[in-house]
Amino acid sequence: MHRDTLIVHAGYRRRGEPGPFLAGPQFSSTYTTPGDPADHALTYGRFHNPTWTAWEEALGVLEGGQAVSFASGMAAVAAAFGVTLRRGDVLVLPADSYYAIRRLAATWLESIGVDVRLVPTRGDQAAALEGARLLWLETPSNPLLDVCDIRALAEQARARGALVAVDNTTATAYLQQPLELGATLVVSSDTKALTGHSDLLLGHVATRDEALAAALRTWRTHHGAIPGPMEVWLAHRSLPTLPLRLSRQCASAARLAEFLASRVDVSAVHYPGLPQHPAHATARRQMRAFGTLVSFDLGTRARAEAFLRALTLVREATSFGGVHSIAERRARWGGDAIGEGFVRFSVGCEAAEDVIEDVRQALDAAGAQ
Ligand SMILES: *Cc1c(COP(=O)(O)O)cnc(C)c1O
Repeated sequence: MHRDTLIVHAGYRRRGEPGPFLAGPQFSSTYTTPGDPADHALTYGRFHNPTWTAWEEALGVLEGGQAVSFASGMAAVAAAFGVTLRRGDVLVLPADSYYAIRRLAATWLESIGVDVRLVPTRGDQAAALEGARLLWLETPSNPLLDVCDIRALAEQARARGALVAVDNTTATAYLQQPLELGATLVVSSDTKALTGHSDLLLGHVATRDEALAAALRTWRTHHGAIPGPMEVWLAHRSLPTLPLRLSRQCASAARLAEFLASRVDVSAVHYPGLPQHPAHATARRQMRAFGTLVSFDLGTRARAEAFLRALTLVREATSFGGVHSIAERRARWGGDAIGEGFVRFSVGCEAAEDVIEDVRQALDAAGAQ
């Protein structure tokens, strides 16, 4: 069956099963459990919840593995680090990975004696693998949208006895399946395009390794980074439209990238779908489409701010992947090796011509300051 069809039905009740297609969120901290707890499937809300179970079944279909849902992307990242790294281990981490992940590695992981080696997504990860326990990849990276070859790096890591984790947030499991490409773990912030409505935070980790899946569930139970049933239900409610949303958003992002690349007043357009992107061939091999994010440089802070002020449809906000187009001057947060005029643009589900027209008039209004 076509993958899009499988996603529309993933984790929903099967044809012929009575009741709603998707059961409502189950709100319960505790369950009636007389006698021996082992006699009861459901006991306490930090251990399990039927709303999570249905969502994780769906995520398993998307990832091709077992999935464990967490309260946010960072909770999922912390769990993936927590179940794989011990004192004395070496972590190879992208120097251009999501800023909060680098901060977590530099504070918590360094403090427990993990050695963190930073290598850019476009760098030579293989050279840093000697003695490594975990190779962490983020492709396309946020916000520079650099791409690395998951299959080739997973092979090199396996040959050296290292595990591979891929932060798949910018692509989502719809566009890219790291477990199929040889990764041990895939981590995702489901706050972004996977759920796509800018109304919740969630994350997940997926793996084909039974022992790691069990360790992730135990980590969640002990650390308490559990997802709320309402968030999980909203996420599952939005999953059947994932193929539709991303098809539209990726097609529009590709058109916007082409438009930006044609403007003489825009430098350095980053989009893996552009033939001039340095890793376009790799992206074409491992991604189904090139994502919802386009980044570009307007040179100066003043010009980027004038551009954002002049937009009339596109909102100025952080995050990405949602049905509403948003943009932000990324350097306002600090922590990334980008210029003051660098704009990260997330393309939504509006008609592409309206998004492009808004960008055109805002670029014209921003002028050449
Ligand atoms: C947003 C993001 C995260 C963190 O996810 P939250 O849901 O905000 O905790 C991790 N990695 C990447 C690449 C992200 O963009």
